[in-house]
Amino acid sequence: MHLYQNQSLKIYNSLSGEKETFIPLHPGAVGMYVCGPTVYSNVHLGNCRTFISFDLVYRYLKHLGFKVRYVRNITDVGHIEDDADEGEDKIAKKARLEKLEPMEIVQQYSVDFHQILELFNNLPPGIEPTATGHIIEQIETVKQIIDNGYGYESNGSVYFDVVKFNKTHNYGQLSGRNLDDMLSNSRELSGQEEKRNPADFALWKKAEPVHIMRWPSPWGDGFPGWHLECTAMSTKYLGNHFDIHGGGMDLKFPHHECEIAQNEAATGHSPVNYWMHANMLTLNGKKMSKSTGNNILPREIFTGNNTVLSKAFSPSVARFFMLQAHYRSVLDFSNDAIVAAEKGYNRLMEAIDSLGNIVAGTTSTIDVSVWKQHCYDAMNDDFNSPILIAHLFEGVKYANLLKDSKETLTPADLEVLAKTLNTFVFDVLGLRNEAGEDSSNEKLDGVVNMLITMRNEARANKDFALSDQIRIKLADLGIELKDTREGTTFTVN
Ligand code: AMP
Ligand code: ZN
Repeated sequence: MHLYQNQSLKIYNSLSGEKETFIPLHPGAVGMYVCGPTVYSNVHLGNCRTFISFDLVYRYLKHLGFKVRYVRNITDVGHIEDDADEGEDKIAKKARLEKLEPMEIVQQYSVDFHQILELFNNLPPGIEPTATGHIIEQIETVKQIIDNGYGYESNGSVYFDVVKFNKTHNYGQLSGRNLDDMLSNSRELSGQEEKRNPADFALWKKAEPVHIMRWPSPWGDGFPGWHLECTAMSTKYLGNHFDIHGGGMDLKFPHHECEIAQNEAATGHSPVNYWMHANMLTLNGKKMSKSTGNNILPREIFTGNNTVLSKAFSPSVARFFMLQAHYRSVLDFSNDAIVAAEKGYNRLMEAIDSLGNIVAGTTSTIDVSVWKQHCYDAMNDDFNSPILIAHLFEGVKYANLLKDSKETLTPADLEVLAKTLNTFVFDVLGLRNEAGEDSSNEKLDGVVNMLITMRNEARANKDFALSDQIRIKLADLGIELKDTREGTTFTVN
């Protein structure tokens, strides 16, 4: 028996604009694709919010017992400045400015992305395909679209014929846009001459001689359009029809609208059953963004090194701050808000730590099964983490009342309380008990400082064999001692 057989999960589907009961295509199994980062700079906290939102989805689906195939790509080619069809590739531009190879840029920021998400305790996806690793698949998709009559070649590039597609399909079904409005509002931009219509978008772009990221294709040397990779890679790993596709709200149009069009044109049917969009993190009321510089980097949060911050905050506190808002709501970052989140996080961790000391009674004065179901109901209602957190604080209140002997629980009910709190806090919300980690760091500090004192005593007694042994043994463990005028300090590698 799996939990998903007892819990009725509802997901807000951006395509229908409604919360729908989640029924996977194959019972017990879920295919989920989420658009990953374009790796040309450090991920900012806004990007992290979207990836944390989908980590919550992934964790809860797994918790319910679904077997989830989670695919999240890395965009390492094809994403042009301003999300346009003309201009410089974001990665190639950074490589030019830094005088590095594009793949050095890709590597540097992919590593940063993985390190940051690991600090936030995000689970890695099952498959993390790159756009450059799937050029052949993308060329095949373009060929299919051309064969089906929805793509045309023009001067070595290939475009998607939006107007023709819209005669038999609905271009705008996800974003709610209307093609006639789009056409009447479109300005004549440079580089549009190759297109039959300004609303057409690039499937494949001819590479000019200066362009270094290039691959041979039936249409000459070139590179894929930005939307193409997600169509090629999602269907390669999840099939032509799969359950969930996610990304940030800003990707709805044009990226996801174009993905749907490409899929329908290539395979003949709509690719995704549930489209999910995570809302934006703002700073000073404006969207955090790489290009405008209106953002905070995660490492600035962890070190406190940013003028908007009064101090450093741990990754779990930053994660908790984000999960206190529903993924479909806009969330504004501020120092006051994260300070408040830290207080809440600490209260939660203290209550969890205190549960081990509570003595069970012979009767129960609290109905913990009802409370437990409330926790599930919150998550079943389109992953409503703020409501879940409100119920978890109800659990904190119970823990405090039990501690003060104002309520009692039988051993079985006490276990339900402890297990439910632990499961939702650590497995589903993905928080870490960093207070505990701090105290283990404190212990390590204490032990090393004790050894430093012993080493100083040995040196004072001219027992250099012992003092050297302490230093060398610590170095073997990755703890480096440094003698300074002010005394001995240490670093842990
Ligand atoms: P990018 O690397 O620009 O392709 O963005 C990676 C992901 O971060 C996409 O899903 C975006 O929608 C998302 N994203 C970008 N800015 C924000 C923001 N301010 N808040 C939340 N998500 C964002
Ligand atoms: Zn995508």
